[in-house]
Amino acid sequence: MMMSDKCKQHVDSCRFCWMCHHICPVGNATGQERNTARARALGISLVNREAIDLSEIMDNIYECATCGACVHDCKTGWDPVMFTKETRLQAALEGKLPAYINTLVDNCLDTGNAYGKTVMCETLAAAIAAHAAKTETLLFLGADARYMACRQGFKAISVLEKAGVSFTALADEPASGAQLDFLIGAAEETKAQMAAAAKVMDDYATVVVFDPADAKAIKQLYHEYGVETKANVVTFTAYLAELLAAGNLAAKKSDRAVVYQDPYQLSRDLCETEEARAVISAFAELSELHLNRTETIWAGDILMAQYKPDTVKRVAARRIFNATSIGAKTMVTASVGEYVALKSVEQSDVEILSLVDLILD
Ligand code: SF4
Ligand code: SF4
Repeated sequence: MMMSDKCKQHVDSCRFCWMCHHICPVGNATGQERNTARARALGISLVNREAIDLSEIMDNIYECATCGACVHDCKTGWDPVMFTKETRLQAALEGKLPAYINTLVDNCLDTGNAYGKTVMCETLAAAIAAHAAKTETLLFLGADARYMACRQGFKAISVLEKAGVSFTALADEPASGAQLDFLIGAAEETKAQMAAAAKVMDDYATVVVFDPADAKAIKQLYHEYGVETKANVVTFTAYLAELLAAGNLAAKKSDRAVVYQDPYQLSRDLCETEEARAVISAFAELSELHLNRTETIWAGDILMAQYKPDTVKRVAARRIFNATSIGAKTMVTASVGEYVALKSVEQSDVEILSLVDLILD
């Protein structure tokens, strides 16, 4: 495998280290050593030394959520997300992706979303059509809300309407490139998808990004990959906090006690932790989960659930257990993927709400 010297250095530094194994949400959910950062590094190091073939470790490479908890926890600055993503890219270049990943990649290239969907639910399609007119502000909903959680997309539109925002929503919204980046990293196809989306965003003064996964891609990865947009890109959570502060979004505080599940893309990647808290605190009594803000634990998503449904459900169940262990009755998340994963767990101890659920309820 052609791996950069930089990644090889990180791999060889991680492969015999155990220091972050306790923090991995996937490893903790499965209880398997193979799911830790160091086990993944060990596998890659064997490929680098030509002891095994790349195809032999690819299932394990796709068991990483790239959530960055290990990177954040590492006291010596090594980066398992970097070498995991580079391995995915190399496997794509060498034609060694697992078949189930090839299907998701093909879907991204054919339809703009990994699920291969082309039709939104009627309610969301109508809400988007009502905002087809060109304005200065684009609401970027993202693939998960458009095709897998359309009620959440509809509610995002409703919240902006409630705040009196004049905005555009696109029936033919381009893919942000976030899903391709997860699947094959910084491939030319990923960058091309990102460049096409940036071109669409250039027509707007402000782009409000509903899904934290898309926000991370647009606000962080585009720049890393040499893709630029002229638009001012803001997260949905930060935009809501601004609307609240300006008095455009009316809030009535209830005595409902909630905890907030920080999406790692907002807290770790974009250093945004307080905006959602400002919004939640205007509507409910907020207390904190153990491991919050940059220490957050990933609670699952929709993309990885396409090929690891049981693992994702166990990850989500563990995060719900974190909430029950402090007596929390309601958990609020700002991530579409985490919302769907948390909701997929059969339990009645903790009510799962999205931020838009909380506002509209
Ligand atoms: S990321 Fe840091 S703590 Fe984790 S295995 Fe690598 S060197 Fe050890
Ligand atoms: S990025 Fe997340 S899922 Fe992957 S090894 Fe690190 S902690 Fe585990």
